[in-house]
Amino acid sequence: METTYQYSQREQGTAAVVKRARRRSSEASSDRVLVVDDEQINRTLLRRMLARYDIETVEADSGEAALELIAEGDFSLVLLDISMPNMDGFEVLMQIRSEQDEAALPVIMVTASDEREQVIRAFDLGANDYVNKPIDPGVTAARVRTQLRLRAAQSALRESEQRYALAAQGANDGLWDWNLITDEVYYSPRWKAMVGLAENHPIDSPQEFLGRIHRDDFERVEAELDLHLTGETPHFEMELRIQRCDNSYRWMLCRGLAVRDQEQRAIRIAGSLTDVTEGKVADALTGLPNRLLFKERVDRSFEQFRRSPVAHFSVLYLDIDNFKLVNDGFGHDAGDQLLIAVARRIESCLRNSDSIVSRIGGDEFAVLVKHVEGEDVSELVAERIIGSLDEPIKLSNDREVFVTLSIGYSSVSDRCVGAQDLLREADTAMYQAKAQGKSCACCYDPRMHQKVKARLDLENELHRAITSDEFVLHYQPIVNLETGQALGAEALVRWCHAERGMVPPNDFISTAEETGLIVPLGRWVMDEACRQLAEWKKTARLPEEFWVAVNLSPRQFHRGQLVETVDEVLKKHQLDTVGLRLEVTESGIMVDADKTTKILAAIRDRGVQISLDDFGTGYSSLAYLHRLPLDTIKIDRSFVLNMEHKSNIAIIKAITGLSAGLDLQLVAEGVETAAQRQKLLEAGCTIGQGYLFSRPVEASEFISAMENNAGVWPAPA
Ligand code: C2E
Ligand code: CA
Ligand code: CA
Repeated sequence: METTYQYSQREQGTAAVVKRARRRSSEASSDRVLVVDDEQINRTLLRRMLARYDIETVEADSGEAALELIAEGDFSLVLLDISMPNMDGFEVLMQIRSEQDEAALPVIMVTASDEREQVIRAFDLGANDYVNKPIDPGVTAARVRTQLRLRAAQSALRESEQRYALAAQGANDGLWDWNLITDEVYYSPRWKAMVGLAENHPIDSPQEFLGRIHRDDFERVEAELDLHLTGETPHFEMELRIQRCDNSYRWMLCRGLAVRDQEQRAIRIAGSLTDVTEGKVADALTGLPNRLLFKERVDRSFEQFRRSPVAHFSVLYLDIDNFKLVNDGFGHDAGDQLLIAVARRIESCLRNSDSIVSRIGGDEFAVLVKHVEGEDVSELVAERIIGSLDEPIKLSNDREVFVTLSIGYSSVSDRCVGAQDLLREADTAMYQAKAQGKSCACCYDPRMHQKVKARLDLENELHRAITSDEFVLHYQPIVNLETGQALGAEALVRWCHAERGMVPPNDFISTAEETGLIVPLGRWVMDEACRQLAEWKKTARLPEEFWVAVNLSPRQFHRGQLVETVDEVLKKHQLDTVGLRLEVTESGIMVDADKTTKILAAIRDRGVQISLDDFGTGYSSLAYLHRLPLDTIKIDRSFVLNMEHKSNIAIIKAITGLSAGLDLQLVAEGVETAAQRQKLLEAGCTIGQGYLFSRPVEASEFISAMENNAGVWPAPA
């Protein structure tokens, strides 16, 4: 630190760090000046003169005596005669300077008039100033007082700087101190660490600092610095971006204060650097206010509300549905583009200038909605936002994706004291919206809390269940609708829960999908289904081409190394590829149709058949069908359920025609009644599954039913 306070002699002689507004009495009270001269008359003259200013003096009649006194006493200044017998002033000065610097103990030399050489030598040896003999009392007194003031100012500065440095260290700030005379900068170890340099890295050039400033900030910095150095602003303070050694930029708050000479010229500027990146208000990707600012705004709204309870407002919590899928499927760049586009759509839905949108986390946004004339408009705003995503979002390279949002909202109430509480409520409601099938909005209800907790518990339990083998497969026959003869079976997973009993897939598959647990779970399902079929083939009588169908989730395409898994599993159980079928949903394929299509085509090339599940519920892009690598389409249960409606029969007939044209097999799901079976047959659909024949049953039950009836599933008339 010491280097900071050392000045060149030239500077000491001319530039004085002035502390204005100091009272004279305080300046005089503690100062003691040592007057060194071999001639009594000179000493007396000086003592009297200084006494007029209340400055106490001590006299020494030789160099030796002076050094002794200095060693013992506490002096503020030395007036030192140059020409003395034995030890002259220069030698005394040298001795003094070997112990104390110019700031600690100023020395004014007393020289014979106009001895230019002597003056230069004195300054070289560390004198602070000089006066000529014969002594002019006015000039001498002025110089002494100037030096005393300078010393006082410097020690105050040093003290305050040390205090400041300590405070700054505590606050984790970096310090810098720019000597404008020598153009050298002192950087504290912390400053260096903040920009990514080693703490002892030797640097002192202003360029180390200026060169790191972001191009877009540089002009502003220059202008602000100028204003302060010329004295137009009381201090320098601004936020700017500083480039670290790893080329990343951080937002820093830079503060500085100039030190000025008598003419008010800045001779130094020193200050601090604080990393404020976290607290910066804007989200770098979307440009929206970040979580911090959002919370501050909500808190401010709370204050207004307390003052005037008509100032009602709500908070909306928004989460992009299946964002992970897009991110995994299309890559992170596409994910970023999507976030930006969604941000813009949300913004476009806010009519009220008081409302603000914020990106508060990865794919999560929040909106502050002020109520209009006492009317809660949050539901309206939420619906508008959901509607704004009806149009697909265009990504670069002309890809289009459909995204939806789940929204939870909650209004200010006496349940909440601050932003944190209201956000939590809206978040809870958002989870409820997800549970209700996504792409919808839910208003917070205190009872939701329990449900959210249950969901978190479920997540934890699922993790455990996967490692401890708590799943089983049930099998439902897929039959020839005319004869009841089984052609294959669909494997459907169940969770044997120690307390809850048999948990159906609809209660945990979506959670498994969101958490990614579906990948290991899906692999287990495929392995177990193949193991079971291989065992049945060895031990029971089954039709030659009997197959088992396994359901796939979209995430398995992106994370699952699906093709490899299929190969491995078939090989492991020595099964022919016709034994396995995969069921995929339209929405699963459409997330990234190109990629999914390639994967499915590779699997189908091996001879594994692909079924399109739940047909008619998703995007229903009939036009796509012929481009997809498919063998079978499964008509969704909802069409079969309402077969008495003429329109549904028409749809089924149309699908029958279409599938025949595309050479696709057709399977009807959810056949529950004989009437439905009859109507399906009339419409030309000959394969189906449903409770009419059998519910999904345990493996042992399934195989004994198969054997007992020679593969025929008798249906009650
Ligand atoms: P899904 O693929 O559409 O499976 C058919 C669902 O319809 C099964 O429900 C089945 O029990 C039910 N079902 C069959 N016939 C009838 C009927 O006549 N009437 C009625 N009302 N329902 C019938 P489940 O087993 O509860 O499975 C629900 C969904 O869970 C499945 O729908 C599938 O999307 C998913 N799922 C099941 N197992 C797996 C799996 O191993 N992996 C994945 N990713 N999803 C699975
Ligand atoms: Ca299925
Ligand atoms: Ca289905």
